[in-house]
Amino acid sequence: MKSILVVEDEEAIRDFVIINLKRSGYNVFEAGSGEDALKIYEANSAKISIVLLDIMLPGIDGFAVCRKLREKSNTLGIIMLTARTQELDKVGGLMIGADDYVTKPFSPSELVARIDALYRRLETDRDSKQPDDIVSGVFTLNLKSRTLTKSGVPVDLTQVEYQIMKYFMESPDTALSRSEILNHVWGEDYFGELKIVDVNVRRLRMKIEDESSNPIHILTVWGYGYKWNAK
Ligand code: CA
Repeated sequence: MKSILVVEDEEAIRDFVIINLKRSGYNVFEAGSGEDALKIYEANSAKISIVLLDIMLPGIDGFAVCRKLREKSNTLGIIMLTARTQELDKVGGLMIGADDYVTKPFSPSELVARIDALYRRLETDRDSKQPDDIVSGVFTLNLKSRTLTKSGVPVDLTQVEYQIMKYFMESPDTALSRSEILNHVWGEDYFGELKIVDVNVRRLRMKIEDESSNPIHILTVWGYGYKWNAK
């Protein structure tokens, strides 16, 4: 059964979200604070595959919770809930390891579609039968353990970063448009903005490039997208 943890201190919003998720077949855990969220995740980590996480919480905020969850699991899906006025928070949340964000106010159908899309992505990755390794230059991506190494040194990736790297390494020296990357990694039914691609590429560059401001592996194709330099 697909299980999700909903973290939101405003009861009305939490209830509204939970009703809609249950209707869509989710088993729902709920928390009204970051502290509770971490406790509940700890006790049910084998079941919970996605956390829907509000940023504004009493006590420790959504960013801190996200960071702590990400330390515990790289395969957990994390979607942040942000207010429209928190434009910068979106980027902040994605930079610390969230997979997606949804802006309040949201429609229940949009929210469920985003959660379903992430869930399917996580499932497909788990089930797919593929060769063990993709090798490109100094990088090796192991598809079984879902790990990346650079010159033999492990690089810690989130699920979304892993999928972007896989797409790049499967398409060496090929200009990929931002919308191609978005469709491939987030799915055709993703409602979000292209900007999420740039934010994730920025984060990836910080992890894999020697100098993220002067990238030699993930090249920018101006006005179009990105290209993996296989040399
Ligand atoms: Ca809140």
